[in-house]
Amino acid sequence: MPTDLFQIVWVRVALGGILGLIFGSFITMLGYRLPRRLSIVRPRSSCPACHHALGMKDLFPIFSWLMSGGRCRHCKAPISARYPILEVLTSLAFMGCFFVSSTPSCITIACLCSMLALTILSILLSR
Ligand SMILES: [Zn+2]
Repeated sequence: MPTDLFQIVWVRVALGGILGLIFGSFITMLGYRLPRRLSIVRPRSSCPACHHALGMKDLFPIFSWLMSGGRCRHCKAPISARYPILEVLTSLAFMGCFFVSSTPSCITIACLCSMLALTILSILLSR
């Protein structure tokens, strides 16, 4: 039963870690686009150097950056380490939220507060 499984701390924390990576990737996109007043919906993410649209291989949090050696797969331009660092920070924050809270409403509020703080950090780092 999903409800019982959610009460197991390590299952909850692992779920938080995975969701944190996904939302961390979203936060890095916000940190790039919001200060530039770009849409957060379209167009698809692309390399700032060669403007090649990123494919699925380029969008896996942390792993894509590690597998490409921190460079664009097409033009080999360096990609800032702030992307994987923010993804890890978001994952850790979500793991903490899922560890200390056990009700979905508390977890949601804690994760939204974390996302707000990390989005502000992402914007500050992208300057
Ligand atoms: Zn490129």
